[in-house]
Amino acid sequence: MGKTKTVGSSGKFGTRYGMRLRKKWHEVDKKQKVLHECPVCSRKAVRRTSSGIWKCRKCGAKFTGGAYLPSTTVAQTGARTITRIAEREA
Ligand SMILES: [Zn+2]
Repeated sequence: MGKTKTVGSSGKFGTRYGMRLRKKWHEVDKKQKVLHECPVCSRKAVRRTSSGIWKCRKCGAKFTGGAYLPSTTVAQTGARTITRIAEREA
């Protein structure tokens, strides 16, 4: 890890990866710092412990999810698509 500059949490990447990707990362990283809702006790106490691993600080539930967010955008898009198909066929 390099030295942290004044570009927020994305500073740890230094000059690598280019500014666009680092900005994107910074956005993702901000969301990561927010506590997420626990699927077990539904309290907002879920934190990422490592890539894809999430843990609830209230009930201690540990579960896997997206690498950067508990439920990935891909999963949400998939769920929406499935709903749309189901509606069309109903
Ligand atoms: Zn919980």
